Amino acid sequence: MYVLHVAFECAPIAKVGGLGDVLGALPKFLRRAGIEAAVLMPRFGDAQLQEDALRLIHEGAFTYRDRTLSYRLWQQDAEVLGFPVYLLEEPVHFGRPGVYQDPTTGLDFPDQADRFFVFQRGVLAVLKEGVLRPDLLHLHDHHTALLPVWLREDPAYRELAELPIVFTVHNAEHQGRYDWQVWEEIGVPVARPEDLQHRGQLNAMKAGLLWADAVTTVSPGYARELQEREDIAAGLQEVFQRVAHKMRGILNGIDPDVWNPATDPLIFANYSVEDLSGKEKNKKALCESLGLRPDRPLLVFIGRLMQEKGVDLLVAGLEQLLTHQIDVSVVVLGTGMPAYQAALEDLRCRIVRPGGFPRLVLRFEFNNTLAHQLYAAGDMLLMPSRVEPCGLNQMYAMTYGTVPIVHAVGGLRDTVEPWDPRTQQGTGFRFETFTPRAFHQAIRRALTVYHRPDQWRVLQRNGMQRDWSWDRSAQEYLELYRTLVPVTS
Ligand code: ADP
Repeated sequence: MYVLHVAFECAPIAKVGGLGDVLGALPKFLRRAGIEAAVLMPRFGDAQLQEDALRLIHEGAFTYRDRTLSYRLWQQDAEVLGFPVYLLEEPVHFGRPGVYQDPTTGLDFPDQADRFFVFQRGVLAVLKEGVLRPDLLHLHDHHTALLPVWLREDPAYRELAELPIVFTVHNAEHQGRYDWQVWEEIGVPVARPEDLQHRGQLNAMKAGLLWADAVTTVSPGYARELQEREDIAAGLQEVFQRVAHKMRGILNGIDPDVWNPATDPLIFANYSVEDLSGKEKNKKALCESLGLRPDRPLLVFIGRLMQEKGVDLLVAGLEQLLTHQIDVSVVVLGTGMPAYQAALEDLRCRIVRPGGFPRLVLRFEFNNTLAHQLYAAGDMLLMPSRVEPCGLNQMYAMTYGTVPIVHAVGGLRDTVEPWDPRTQQGTGFRFETFTPRAFHQAIRRALTVYHRPDQWRVLQRNGMQRDWSWDRSAQEYLELYRTLVPVTS
């Protein structure tokens, strides 16, 4: 069986968030489980590729609106990432740095929509010309979600109409909404246009949900919430209910080739569950480099500074913590909304004590090395997400012996088991209500345990010993693929 993943990100070639991590790992584990798997993605101007492993395998052209666009298809060989990656090079829309945003301005590309549509037209061309001949297409997020409609409805792709399609929702907040007229200009007529529309607009995610043969999302908890909570489904609850019969949640895993404190080359000292002394060294080295006191609990936040990540709660919770409690240090690493950066900066200025050590360090940048170092050095990871499809940060944190404090939502509820001092079971701390008070109380509970080192060690080890490997998830995907692909392939 040959599964082709189609996506806009694949770490480390291009990564903005968890989507990139998933695409950078899942195909490798599918191959280990015995099937062929590859990724097809755009070739961005700043793609992190291994040039000597790149081969040009095809040149062609396709039309988009009234333009003919030439493209080239490159293959990065499997030995680089453990699976082949096919890169669609189309210079007009992708020949510049950035995945969704212009790195020089931090703003979405003005031709964002065209980039998504052009990529999908390019994928159709590659499939129609038979350059790649998968047995199943696995599509990821709204950037690829219109493909099933073209494949099923456009007579031009009749020979591909039976190709099984899995569509995975990594984040339902971003749905790909466009003026309906756009579909009239670039699409094909469908029997029930309302299946492509939501609130009068073209809605790519809705199309993917309805036209795909199977739908998955990245945790069982999020799968339930999408069907039960209109706020989490971001308006598509009724559609998620309609597709419930073909939808399931499969928890993401983590890639131990990249995320393993025993081998991670980006951290200051390696360590493992048997000997946590290396973790202390990481904390000391990081605190030194950031001017923080190493003898205080170190709380870290890593992630996009967006509403869905609960950054408003982060600011309010830190405000309560840092004004009342002086003996903690906090590091925030993230990029995102300027208003949140301003609020954090404002908080930092307000809590400064003359002559005192800094207690809040802010790094508004995307810095993979620093992220690894923070997972290794931190005592606690703060993750007050309002919505969390799966969340990888908390799994990385637990693997590195950093205790997560999370809002009990989506994948966070599925992966962080609350600490129970009686049984000595559990891997972190959860709070149920999305309020600064509940968040602050969870941090205080964690700090209480932190000051009992024997208990804290058990808690750390519980998290480090959990198995978050992709093997289990890859098996679940494989079972799903087998229900869709005829046995002969
Ligand atoms: P999401 O995909 O919603 O952003 P996830 O928790 O699934 O959230 O994945 C986030 C990934 O992006 C993790 O690998 C995290 O370490 C990484 N990340 C997020 N922000 C940054 C940043 N500013 N610098 C480095 N890595 C980051």
